[in-house]
Amino acid sequence: MNHMLLELANTRQTYRKMLNLYWLTIPLTVLLEFAIQRLLVQASLADILPSLIGQMLLLSAATGLVDLLYCRRNLQSDWLLILMGIIYASSIILMNPTIGIVPATFIFPILTSIMTFNKKRIAGAFALVLLCFALLYLFSPSLRLTMQPIHMIGILFLYTGAAAIALSMAASGIELLNNLKHATEAKQELLVKTIIMDTLSKMDALTDLYNHKTFHEYLEKLIEQNELNELSLQLAILDIDNFKRINDTYGHWVGDIILVRVAAIIKETVTPNDFVARYGGEEFAVIFTEKTLEEAYRLSELIRQRLFMTAHPELDSKSATISIGLQEYRKGKGKEALFKGADASLYAAKRSGKNKTVIHSIPGESALSSTRSFLAQEAAE
Ligand code: GH3
Ligand code: MG
Ligand code: MG
Repeated sequence: MNHMLLELANTRQTYRKMLNLYWLTIPLTVLLEFAIQRLLVQASLADILPSLIGQMLLLSAATGLVDLLYCRRNLQSDWLLILMGIIYASSIILMNPTIGIVPATFIFPILTSIMTFNKKRIAGAFALVLLCFALLYLFSPSLRLTMQPIHMIGILFLYTGAAAIALSMAASGIELLNNLKHATEAKQELLVKTIIMDTLSKMDALTDLYNHKTFHEYLEKLIEQNELNELSLQLAILDIDNFKRINDTYGHWVGDIILVRVAAIIKETVTPNDFVARYGGEEFAVIFTEKTLEEAYRLSELIRQRLFMTAHPELDSKSATISIGLQEYRKGKGKEALFKGADASLYAAKRSGKNKTVIHSIPGESALSSTRSFLAQEAAE
């Protein structure tokens, strides 16, 4: 919690602003000193100039050092800011030891410590102020002369009051930030839950592929894009052959294992630009994007071949096979036509012996003949 508070309280902007404020205080302090000396003591310019220049140099050196550490070393220290406040106040007190109210300037380092939102730093600033005031009192005879007991009580009361206010302000700040943190955490938890629920509603629990609903939503979006841009799109529907027989012979649990394995083979074979879904039962759908029909066909064949080459211990080391219907999207034809085309090709693959990929891309040409032309091309290669 403290870490978060410090992050909030000790940002680079706040630190820069504080440093700028200190720089601005230097000419203001010197002007004030000049006015006080001229009006109250009626000192000549020659008398006050050396001490004014001395004060200006001291404050500039202290501020310059802290600024340098901040700019070059990226050092942001609350203690340095508090210490600077003490140097500024001490210099003003030393310049005007005969004005009883001047030690009140020590409340500024205490007020500076509020922005740390840290009780230890506020208490530290208070202790440092008391220590410095005691030292000034000991080493400045003029201050000792000015500070009557009533002044001392008043000044100590002022420091204590300022420290008490600083502590209560920091406490309210901490409470406020605590509430803010809890509210933010609750909101984040809700967001994570929503994301998990959203993901779960999109996926198929058994195969970890996208489900039927997500498939249709995604296909619609891709078709919209295809209509606007030159995005190539092919749909493959894949159906495990004789799956009922697998279930009947080896049991449903084996059927489930085969489904998971087929899903894994499909996922491993397609590219990251493709979308794989479990369409339902033992049917899968792949949407190929940014590919030629020939590339989509080759990937479909690779899926089929990989499955064919996989021996399943649960099936007495036999393999399972899959039939695939492939269709390329043609502009303006719509989702239904694409789906019907892929389905018809799958049906053709089943009818003609299963364990094959059939494409239907060129209108008028039969699905099988276009497959053959690819196969003939492959054989020639
Ligand atoms: P074909 O080669 O013509 O595709 O024949 P098939 O036996 O694969 O097709 P059919 O449609 O006759 O049978 C599909 C079977 O898939 C029927 C159903 O019990 C089974 N099935 C559907 N979903 C699941 C599932 O989640 N797990 C298991 N184990 N079986 C499933
Ligand atoms: Mg089926
Ligand atoms: Mg089947």
